[in-house]
Amino acid sequence: MGWYDEFLNKYKSGISHEFLFYFNVRDLVDNSRHLDKYLYDEFIKQRGFSIVAFYDISRGLTFLDPSMEKEFNLITSNEAADLLHTLPSKIFPYIDMVLKSTKTVLFIDHVEKIIPSGDVGSMTLEERMSLIWICEWSSNIKISTIGSTIFMLADNLEDVSREILKSSFKVEPVLVELPGEKERCSYINYLLNNKNVKLDISLDEFAKLSSGLSRKSINDIRLRAEAENIPITFDFIKEKKHSVLKKEYGDVLEFIYPEISFEDIGGMDIAKNYLIKNIVNPVKSGDLRRVPMGILLCGPSGTGKTLLVNALAKASGFNCVKIDMSRILGQYVGESEKNFKKCLLGAKSQQPVIVFVDEIDTTFRRGESGDSGVGRNIFSEFLQFTGNTNNRGKVIFIAATNRPDLLDAALKRPGRFDKKIPVLLPGIGERAEIFEIIIGKYGFDTDIEDFIPYAEATENYTGAEIETIVRKAYEIANEDDKPGTAITGEILRKAIERCRPSTQEVEFMTLLAVKECDDLDLLPEKYQHLLEEKKDN
Ligand code: ADP
Repeated sequence: MGWYDEFLNKYKSGISHEFLFYFNVRDLVDNSRHLDKYLYDEFIKQRGFSIVAFYDISRGLTFLDPSMEKEFNLITSNEAADLLHTLPSKIFPYIDMVLKSTKTVLFIDHVEKIIPSGDVGSMTLEERMSLIWICEWSSNIKISTIGSTIFMLADNLEDVSREILKSSFKVEPVLVELPGEKERCSYINYLLNNKNVKLDISLDEFAKLSSGLSRKSINDIRLRAEAENIPITFDFIKEKKHSVLKKEYGDVLEFIYPEISFEDIGGMDIAKNYLIKNIVNPVKSGDLRRVPMGILLCGPSGTGKTLLVNALAKASGFNCVKIDMSRILGQYVGESEKNFKKCLLGAKSQQPVIVFVDEIDTTFRRGESGDSGVGRNIFSEFLQFTGNTNNRGKVIFIAATNRPDLLDAALKRPGRFDKKIPVLLPGIGERAEIFEIIIGKYGFDTDIEDFIPYAEATENYTGAEIETIVRKAYEIANEDDKPGTAITGEILRKAIERCRPSTQEVEFMTLLAVKECDDLDLLPEKYQHLLEEKKDN
């Protein structure tokens, strides 16, 4: 566990005895004040703390066991016995006394309610007093000599007063991550041991599927299966994941469960080959240096960019999340920034993961991202996140756009979305393939064997438009409500006549995608002359 080691190092080196744990803190202390077994066994028990106490504003001060409360009362000469459920200003002086008298662990939960973020000037007197105690404890010699330790817990670092993180105090923030795959696997193993729960999937599958879930959520799955006396299935976990994600990340993070393979995509051989060679194969062989940090898929809408991402997720075995930036920015100021950070942490917790940002140009437009404070902060957060080379081969960013010309240049610099793959209109052979694939996908009957004539009649159509034609053909075939009607050549022709492509926009976007492309190997031959023309100009 990365976070635990980080904390332990800081603790052992004596840097601090007061820590601010944030993010996945419910795995440490849950809402019923159950303490994480690992933290208890490995840290508290081994170091012989005599008092373990919990405080938060709504529930006041409680203890891990009654003997500890007795000891607390003894040290405070029973003066605090009636004050356990009062505000910090009343009870903190007694806690202070105890921290300095005996080796104590104090958990201050929901610390953002005690010392919320914002200007110190606008804090209430109560909040300011709490802030003073908390800051004072961090650098108090008596507390460190006795060996008392304070753990503050908050879901979001941004919700807590910045004051305590100033260098004059010694509060150390520690990001508590969600459990990784290995950790989930051993936790699930421990959970299911000797319990009456049946698994409809393998342990490894459960561990893989539960990415992004805390141990608490995994345990909830087990408890529910047990209560309802049903086995744990793929859908069961998926449903839980959806509800957790919705609750934690609002509507901004969406899971994609890929059901599409590369074979289900017509044409696009160059793009497919690139992804297989540079991502799928290296990931499988463990040679992560080859894997690009980020890829920008450029091209008109409806040409299959989303499909490619899906197929890549399936072939690589990566999880896949989609970030809906427009929703993040739609939230009110302050909120959007906080949620964005959380959303990135959530996405990262899914690793190995493909993070997909569709229509990225609508969020990070050239020149605009620097305008407002919120925009700038979110943009620099995004740049930092996407440029973090520690994530290479574990987090792959894929963005799609039909207006690469509008994107902020910083995004396209080396080390971010530096591979630009044009996804353009299908050629004649590709269109024939797409017709066949889409008719197959819907399970429509047809007596057509050769789709080339129909591909000839659909120059300048996108894959999405071919899909519209096929659906239209099915509609025509079933106009008389006779069941089992097949799509004949005549019907398909009729459908083609009725659906027109949106040529003008597509031409413009094709040109933009070609202009953006800086690697001739990735550009289909029939478009290469456009790039030559660009050079000549
Ligand atoms: P984009 O992300 O580029 O806007 P999508 O991937 O969402 O396009 O494609 C829209 C729909 O069009 C897909 O769901 C699929 O049914 C169809 N489609 C587009 N291109 C292809 C293709 N090459 N092969 C098969 N279907 C395609």
